[in-house]
Amino acid sequence: MKNILIVEDDRFYAGQMIRTLMRHYPGLVIDSCENANELFERLGKKEVHYDLIIADLLLPDSEGEHIGKLVDAGEAVVVVTGNTDIGYKRKIFELDIVDYIIKSENERFEYLLKLLERLQRNRGKKILIVDDSPTVRAFFQKMLRRQQLHVLEAENGQEGLKLVNAEHVDMVISDYMMPVMDGLSLLVEIRKEMSMLDLPFIAVSTHENEGVVANFLRHGANDFLKKPFGKEELMWRINNTLDLVDMLQKEREHAVKDELTTLYNRYYLDEIAPKMLAFAERYEEQPLSLMILDVDHFKRINDTYGHLVGDKVLKSVSDIIKKEVRKSDVVIRFGGEEFLVLMPSTDVRRAFVAGEKLRRDIEKNSVELGNGKVIPVTVSGGVVQCKRGLSLDDLIRCADEALYEAKRAGRNRIEMAESCRRLPKQ
Ligand code: GH3
Ligand code: MG
Ligand code: MG
Repeated sequence: MKNILIVEDDRFYAGQMIRTLMRHYPGLVIDSCENANELFERLGKKEVHYDLIIADLLLPDSEGEHIGKLVDAGEAVVVVTGNTDIGYKRKIFELDIVDYIIKSENERFEYLLKLLERLQRNRGKKILIVDDSPTVRAFFQKMLRRQQLHVLEAENGQEGLKLVNAEHVDMVISDYMMPVMDGLSLLVEIRKEMSMLDLPFIAVSTHENEGVVANFLRHGANDFLKKPFGKEELMWRINNTLDLVDMLQKEREHAVKDELTTLYNRYYLDEIAPKMLAFAERYEEQPLSLMILDVDHFKRINDTYGHLVGDKVLKSVSDIIKKEVRKSDVVIRFGGEEFLVLMPSTDVRRAFVAGEKLRRDIEKNSVELGNGKVIPVTVSGGVVQCKRGLSLDDLIRCADEALYEAKRAGRNRIEMAESCRRLPKQ
């Protein structure tokens, strides 16, 4: 969203709106004009394309006809009106506008700012419409594109499922009755792999039977739309579901990430490690290795330069690890100055080689202080390969023993755990 046109004859109101927008979005280019005549003259010149036109409903030379014309020309329009009557609002929404805002005195434009934020957010999102009627799919296409959403189409559940597996989809909106595979079966298939947070699902149906709604909700539909529904209702069901899922995903992300390094934390290790161990047990040709890296004499760094510099060192070490490891590796901030790396499809020798490379890179990349001082930073590490019957705790203990060996042998080195045994049960 870059170019915005404001059409408003109340100069004071327009000025307030422009100032508010500029304050929150300094990169926006905002044009303005005061009547319909000027508006169409400007659009006729086609010098710029406006991503959004925010237009007053009543202008000195138009009683609202300009809105219809703008919409017909394919423009994305936000209507500004002082009329708060519900029936009337419903009517303007049936014109294919993006949204409307209600004029009020003492305006702080909170709604408009939220609307822009939402449109911005929607830009990267893909919504899959599953419906056997081309007319209905076309309706959703038009409606959702106005909200800046990207739309994918499928004409039955089976096609929908294929798309869900092949592409990154952010939400599914599906009809109930369809040939080949109906909406409920599609939902059941999706929920085998993906939760309500992973892929939100809104069901649509004309079915009068209350049992259908209950069934969809029971199987994990995030929301339900009964035909016929208004465009505004549709928009809000989609917006609210996307908002909620975004919020919860951020929370989840927050809970499993370490703030200083943005690496995963121990909670995530507990979540992901059992799955990776089970995979390695099932496919013997896919060995899993685990590495623990520990910064050498880190206490000394803290004591000499202070805690903030210590933090900077940790950040720098974690950035190197993140950059160096494979995409399929999982890096965890395991303790204060300890990092754990889970390496799938890697035997212990390869893990050792990877560890040696990391060790050298960290050694080369000493951390610079602003005053020209350079702090030498090294790490020691222990690596171990997963074997049948070993638990995560066993592996961590063995890697820790190898790490201890590396420390004992002089630090700045990596050691392999030759044989990792299970601890006898107490
Ligand atoms: P070794 O070479 O044997 O590993 O010695 P070390 O000094 O690195 O090990 P030790 O375990 O004695 O000290 C680790 C220190 O890390 C102690 C702790 O105060 C510090 N530390 C832990 N978390 C953080 C953090 O988030 N930031 C900073 N700056 N320091 C931390
Ligand atoms: Mg330590
Ligand atoms: Mg240490």
